[in-house]
Amino acid sequence: MKCAKCGIELPACSDRCGSCGTSYARICPGCGPAESEEAKTCAMCGGPLVSVWNPTIAELQALGIHCFMPYTDDRIYDIYLGGNRDGGGYVFHNTAGYTGPSVETLVLPSMAEGRPIVGIWNEFFCVGEDFAPDAYEKTFERMYPIKNIIVSEGIKEAGIYAFFGCCGLETLKLPLSMKKMMYDFADLFSNGLASFPNGRPRGPVTVLYAGSERDWSGVAVPNLFNDFVQKGCIRLVFGSGG
Ligand SMILES: [Zn+2]
Ligand SMILES: [Zn+2]
Repeated sequence: MKCAKCGIELPACSDRCGSCGTSYARICPGCGPAESEEAKTCAMCGGPLVSVWNPTIAELQALGIHCFMPYTDDRIYDIYLGGNRDGGGYVFHNTAGYTGPSVETLVLPSMAEGRPIVGIWNEFFCVGEDFAPDAYEKTFERMYPIKNIIVSEGIKEAGIYAFFGCCGLETLKLPLSMKKMMYDFADLFSNGLASFPNGRPRGPVTVLYAGSERDWSGVAVPNLFNDFVQKGCIRLVFGSGG
């Protein structure tokens, strides 16, 4: 596997990257974080564990990935990448979840400081004004350089606008843990494969799902997603592995 932060090749079960020092933890795709660091299999289901990136909040912020850690002394809330958690008292207005540079390959973590991250909130790449049709050109141009998004094993949900604006996207890698993939690609393919308003070509996106076709049948997706698969705008590939 490649280090999520610095990109160098790491041994399969590393706890730490020898080059950049970022840490890794073991999780079961179905059950969550492993109970002990030495465990090789999941104590709950007996299945294999996988190593996932487990950065600190400071590391994530330096990369422009905002993960909200909404906990108080008496309670820990579900952690999402970007966005807000109305009702939990944590609302982040006008702040996109991702403010980093538009890198070619972006890895979205499933853990931060040892706590599991549940999902990717709606406003991860874009907020309010970015969604206005007359802002599309600017929004799309900003995100165009992002070609590959890797969603780490352990993430269960992606909101309806989770990847909104990523118009240069060529591959989206989804983990076996994904249960609800609500992003519908409407911003990318509502005009089929015609060019974007900014003149950039609109190519098909390959969605690489870690599980089998049968596993995929248990993942909730919007109807529009399936329509885009039918029309050849999305190429859905199974069993890409962790
Ligand atoms: Zn590294
Ligand atoms: Zn398990």
